[in-house]
Amino acid sequence: MGFRKSSEILRDFVADHQQLFDKTHEKMVYIIGFSGCLCIHIFYVLMFQMLHVKELLYFNIASIVIYIVLLILTNFVINERNLLLYAADLEIIAHAAYATHLLGWTPDFAMFILLLIPATFLTQSQRFYIPFIVTFIAMFTYIHLKIHLVDESNFKYHFDDESFMKALHMANIFIASFVLAFTSIAYMLHREFMEFQLIDQRETFKKLASIDPLTNLYNRRAMNENIRAIRRNSATPQSKYVIGIGDIDNFKKINDTYGHDTGDKVLVYISNLLISTIPDGGYAARWGGEEFLFIIPESNVDEGVAFTEKIHKSLRAHTFEIDDCMFGVTMTFGVSEGIPTDKIDSVITHADKRLYKGKNNGKNHTESTD
Ligand code: GH3
Ligand code: MG
Ligand code: MG
Repeated sequence: MGFRKSSEILRDFVADHQQLFDKTHEKMVYIIGFSGCLCIHIFYVLMFQMLHVKELLYFNIASIVIYIVLLILTNFVINERNLLLYAADLEIIAHAAYATHLLGWTPDFAMFILLLIPATFLTQSQRFYIPFIVTFIAMFTYIHLKIHLVDESNFKYHFDDESFMKALHMANIFIASFVLAFTSIAYMLHREFMEFQLIDQRETFKKLASIDPLTNLYNRRAMNENIRAIRRNSATPQSKYVIGIGDIDNFKKINDTYGHDTGDKVLVYISNLLISTIPDGGYAARWGGEEFLFIIPESNVDEGVAFTEKIHKSLRAHTFEIDDCMFGVTMTFGVSEGIPTDKIDSVITHADKRLYKGKNNGKNHTESTD
């Protein structure tokens, strides 16, 4: 037993929790993110209160207010939610720069400035240029600090006990790693969800392109592929398959007498009958207006005739009652068998000729001989 690839595990997770990644749940990511920032600033408030760094104490109280406002706005701003993130980015840069200015490089608040660069590219942006602006501001601020804050004696606060600054440094490393991991995980799951949606859409489009919308049967194009697949997958080169073409008798009269909508309902009824009656492995398609084609693999003409007889029997026993009208409908079939090496067009033409013969021989039956 081998190890499953991590990408497969991730894909399964996204598939199982699909609604988690819906647009409505995107809000959750913002709420978790802003709540996280709020908690971090509460921690800083306690820390700076303890260290008596009053500027940063007030700054962090202001930050708490900012994140409360951002949390409230998350509920109201829907289309431009990104803008809230950029407000948070500016707060982070300002806080990191101010803390570095007051406390120096030891607690490494400046690391948050550089951390914003990958984080901003990982968050979904409606405007592609904004991460570049954030990057420019972050880079500019960091370089500015590096150039102007070199002399340790310029820092306003000095602590005799270095262990406080070391502990703050450790806390900052922990917070920065957590923020980056959270952003990356949110990005990874989002990307996986997008891919999942694309696969889903591709399947839907494929289905739409191969199904006749009125009858839900395969259309001609898809049926040609099904026929090719049956011939390709034949058990042996001598395996027979049977193809039949059925045409509704006097359908024009049904349309003319009862209306086109009633004609449509007849088409749908017959299509459902074909789908529910065809043996396993067989396919039925709407080949033309009121013409149907079926193929049954690993079978011969007799089995094809047996299938059409079931359809004849069901139709003869059925009275259509549509909009106060009562009438019966019959069909004529022509069937022909082939092997994989036969030209498919000639097998279909053969069935078609037999159908034509059946129409000339009184309709409402199946022709299986020339
Ligand atoms: P036959 O017994 O010889 O087959 O006679 P028929 O009247 O069935 O044959 P014909 O080919 O003259 O008429 C077929 C009619 O099917 C003509 C066309 O208007 C109708 N038709 C084709 N597609 C549709 C459809 O999607 N809905 C409806 N209601 N009628 C359709
Ligand atoms: Mg007809
Ligand atoms: Mg016809």
